Amino acid sequence: MRYISTRGQAPALSFEEVVLTGMASDGGLYVPESVPQLDHEALADMAGCSYAEIAFRVMKPYVGGEIDDDTFRGIVRDAYATFSHDAVVPLNQLDANHFLLELFHGPTLAFKDVALQLLGRLLDHFLAKRGERAVIMGATSGDTGSAAIEGCRHCDNLDIFILHPHERVSEVQRRQMTTVLADNVFNVAIEGNFDDAQAMVKASFADQTFLNGTRLVAVNSINWARIMAQIVYYVASAVALGAPHRKVSFCVPSANFGNVFAGYMAYRMGLPVERFVIATNANDILHRTLADNDFSKQELVATLAPSMDIVVSSNFERLLFEAYQRDGAAVAELLERFQDEPSALAEAPLARLREMFASHSIDDATILEVIREAHHRTQEILDPHTATGYRAAERERGDESVPMITLATAHPAKFAEAVVKAGFPGVPLPPHMDDLLEREERYTVLPAELAAVQAFVAENRR
Ligand SMILES: *Cc1c(COP(=O)(O)O)cnc(C)c1O
Repeated sequence: MRYISTRGQAPALSFEEVVLTGMASDGGLYVPESVPQLDHEALADMAGCSYAEIAFRVMKPYVGGEIDDDTFRGIVRDAYATFSHDAVVPLNQLDANHFLLELFHGPTLAFKDVALQLLGRLLDHFLAKRGERAVIMGATSGDTGSAAIEGCRHCDNLDIFILHPHERVSEVQRRQMTTVLADNVFNVAIEGNFDDAQAMVKASFADQTFLNGTRLVAVNSINWARIMAQIVYYVASAVALGAPHRKVSFCVPSANFGNVFAGYMAYRMGLPVERFVIATNANDILHRTLADNDFSKQELVATLAPSMDIVVSSNFERLLFEAYQRDGAAVAELLERFQDEPSALAEAPLARLREMFASHSIDDATILEVIREAHHRTQEILDPHTATGYRAAERERGDESVPMITLATAHPAKFAEAVVKAGFPGVPLPPHMDDLLEREERYTVLPAELAAVQAFVAENRR
């Protein structure tokens, strides 16, 4: 399998290269050159298979023979053995045809574990094969850094440095990062805010001389392997509800669009899907684009669903590439214009998107209302991200004979602030984490100075 850029100018890459590369050199994102097909029989054969086996079968064509089957099976099995539920991503039936797909049973209680548990192992495999080491750097406002750390803690060939703003991260979220005491994990508390931390990471990627030639790798959601890993749970959940013999719909709490784009890939591979419902919070660029063709940036709003607080939706570019029928030049032109001024999609591509996607924007007041209402109706306490999905799904039930699967992207204990605001006493951490507040922590406080951070990385990487 070869991978091509959504802007049509960068060289095509192999799977191994695409895992080790972030953005394409033309500013685009990598996508597979062709979409492998899962026919009726292949889907029917998955009934009753374990999650790891379905994962192996769905992802194998994307790996394209670059990892031998036994090794890849082992990588997949190890990645999903870290989940605390035997089904990995269990379905929870809410009513006659509304289901929650619980993606939060991984080590950090949010869906990013599904992709990052695999990506860390894939990176380690390819680095070992090449006899190379790499450094990962990232910045976090608290919610997502831990998934990257957990994904890399067992990797021999990777050192990971995650910057968070000192004393501006909730205790649970800080401890999810700082209690990982592995030798290759470095938590840095920056005496500044999240933007300071992010700016230092960006500057380090732009000029990597401080690493003397060691590769710097990004594990953010533009990495193709993250999308690939997420395709699996769409297939697995649809098969559990009767695919390929009947259709399902999905509702996806969305921000950078990596999650729902993976669903779209499952559909393109042949999974029978009726439609995708996109839920956003008040940061609603996806909803404005689909509903009003208003493809423009707006001020960032801090919401109760912070993992969905974005201005630009980076993976939307991958869907635009398909909507523009893989015309990289047209995508490049649209996105370059969008950088500087409000834009709009051409009519035909927008019409194509509207065939498969509906969208709803859910504000904070509604998130609180939904948490209360869903609890009243189903006894479940939803996390605030999942709450946006629950409400969007309710608004889009459509054909009642088609099951609606809402993706539950985080465990409510991880976002207790919203749950408490909704009037609940809080949510206990799951049993395997109930000693989190007593565990030993390790992190280094540094000033918000690029030179200090880079010196720390250069000295401590192994
Ligand atoms: C990252 C995240 C999202 C948004 O997913 P995208 O792939 O960026 O659309 C939603 N909910 C939670 C809890 C997340 O961590």
